[in-house]
Amino acid sequence: MLCSYQSTLEFALEQDQNDVLKSYRDKFHIPQDKHGKDLIYMTGNSLGLQPKQTKAYVNQELDDWAKLGVEGHTQAKNAWLPYHEFLTNSMAKIVGAKPIEVVVMNTLTANLHFMMVSFYQPTKTRYKILIESDAFPSDKYAVESQLRHHGFNEKEGLILWKPRKNEALLRYDDLELLMQKHGNEIALIMIGGVNYYTGQFFDLKRITKLGHQYGCKVGFDCAHGAGNVVLNLHDSGADFAVWCTYKYLNSGPGSLAGCFVHERHAYNKKLNRFTGWWSHDKETRFNMRDAFNQLAGAEGWQLSNPPILSMAAIKASLDLFSEVSMETLTKKSKKLTGYLAFLLEQLGKDVIHIITPKDEQHRGCQLSIQVKNSNQSLHSKLLEAGVLTDWREPNVIRCAPVPFYNSFEDIYNMVAILKTILN
Ligand SMILES: *Cc1c(COP(=O)(O)O)cnc(C)c1O
Repeated sequence: MLCSYQSTLEFALEQDQNDVLKSYRDKFHIPQDKHGKDLIYMTGNSLGLQPKQTKAYVNQELDDWAKLGVEGHTQAKNAWLPYHEFLTNSMAKIVGAKPIEVVVMNTLTANLHFMMVSFYQPTKTRYKILIESDAFPSDKYAVESQLRHHGFNEKEGLILWKPRKNEALLRYDDLELLMQKHGNEIALIMIGGVNYYTGQFFDLKRITKLGHQYGCKVGFDCAHGAGNVVLNLHDSGADFAVWCTYKYLNSGPGSLAGCFVHERHAYNKKLNRFTGWWSHDKETRFNMRDAFNQLAGAEGWQLSNPPILSMAAIKASLDLFSEVSMETLTKKSKKLTGYLAFLLEQLGKDVIHIITPKDEQHRGCQLSIQVKNSNQSLHSKLLEAGVLTDWREPNVIRCAPVPFYNSFEDIYNMVAILKTILN
C-alpha cells in the first residue's frame, strides 16, 4: 500500500472518488473557516464532528417530553426507561464486547472511579497502581486520589511505565521488567488503550495477560481507542475499560461515557461497588421498598436514571456506526493515516519527526508530529490557513484524520499548507 501513494492532488482526489465511505462526509456538519470554506478538521481525537441527524434525534426527545411529560418514560417513541439499552448492542460491537459487558452511563473520569471502587481493592502488601508515565492528566489525578482515599502515599504507590531516554514510545520489555520487580505489590494496572499524546495503540491482551499472571487487576481507558481502532475488549480479557463518546464517537461535548466490565464479573454480587436504584434489578426497581437486588452485567454499575438528551445524541451517532463496521472504518483509516505519514515524510526527516508508531498495527488514525524549531505559533498559522490541528505542550501537533468525514484531499491540502508555512 505504502509504495503506491503519490504526492499529487490528482491522486488524493482519485482516492476520494474510490472511497466506499465517501457519502459519509456529507452526513456530518463540517465547521467553516472565516472565508466560509470547510475547515480541514484534524481534531476528531478531541471532539468529533456533529452528525447531521443528531438534531432530529434530540428533538424527538424534546418533543416527547413536551407532549407526554412523565409518561415519556414508557410512552415516548423511544421509551426513556430502557433508553440506555438502545445503545448497548452497537456500542458493544464498536469495542468488541458482549452486550452484557457494556453500558453507557456517567462521564469518563467518573466511570474510571466507579471501576476502581470495584477493581482497586488494595491490601497492606499489594496496593500499588501502574500507569503509563505520560497518562492523560485526568487518569493520573484519578488514580492518585484513589491511592490517597485508601490511605496510601500517592508518590510511593504509583509505578510509572516510562519510555527510555530519548524515546517517546513505551516498550513491552520494560513493562515486563517492572512487573518482575513490582508485580506482587501491584493491585491494578490502568493504561490508556491508545495513548493520547503519542498515539501508541497498546496490545491490550498482552498487557492483561501479563498483569493477571502477577495477580493484578487490569483496566484500560479507551477514550482514544473507541471508534478509532478495533479493541476486542472481551478477548483482551481486561477486567474493565472506560471511554468517552465525544471523541471518535461523535456524540457531542461532554456526552455520556462507556463502560466495560468483563463477563467473568457479570454475576459476582460480592464485588464491592457503589450502587444506586439503577443498579437494582429492573423488574422490581419500582417496588421501591424491596431490599437491594444487584442487576447483572455492566448495567449493574449504573447509579442514576440517565440524561436522555445526551443519549439521543449518542444514538444518532451509533446508528451511523451500525451502518459501517469498525473493520470498514479502520480499513479506510489506515489508508488515510498512511497517506498523511507518507506526505509528511516527504517534507524531510530534518523538518518533521513523527513520534507515533510507524506500524499501523500499533496506532489508530492519530499522528503526533514534532516540527523542528516550531512552537505554538505554527498551530496558529495552520488555523489561519484553514487547518485545525491540536497543539500539546511542549512541542507536539496531533492530527487525527477521521475516516467518517476526512478525505484524502484534506490530507493533501493540509500537508501542502504546512509545507508553505515552513518555507
Ligand atoms: C479525553 C480523555 C479524558 C477526559 O475525561 P472526562 O472525564 O471525559 O473529562 C480522560 N482520560 C483520557 C485518556 C482521555 O483521552
